Amino acid sequence: MPSCPRCRDKALSCLSSPGAKRCSECVLANNAQCGLEGPDIPSLQREKTELDAEREAVVAAQEANARRARRLRKREQAFEKKMARILFHEAAAVSELEEEERLEAQAAPSSLPLSPGWGAADIDQVLALGSPDPLTPLPSGQA
Ligand SMILES: [Zn+2]
Ligand SMILES: [Zn+2]
Repeated sequence: MPSCPRCRDKALSCLSSPGAKRCSECVLANNAQCGLEGPDIPSLQREKTELDAEREAVVAAQEANARRARRLRKREQAFEKKMARILFHEAAAVSELEEEERLEAQAAPSSLPLSPGWGAADIDQVLALGSPDPLTPLPSGQA
């Protein structure tokens, strides 16, 4: 025999005569809401609450995962930029080094850091003027 919600909650033995709307416990306690014959509303409400809680937990987990995914994407983008920068700098440094080696080979006797395109006449001019800044382009023919 099924127990009414009140008897189940209070662990009472739910007794009722056939056709009665309320069990004897509810009659004695003057409880109008026996629920013996009707649907077990409190039980349904508990189940609904459990489902709602589980749904909320799933949604919260989804939102947390979405946030993690967005953070991860940002970190990936930052990493890609950093990697591009490092690789670009490395390539630039290598070509710079090659350029220095080439210039050193060209201007073997001189230790001056020369800009590319300078001729021997320009070097003579700089040396004659005693310019402290050989990197400043010096227009030819002006002295
Ligand atoms: Zn009962
Ligand atoms: Zn009852």
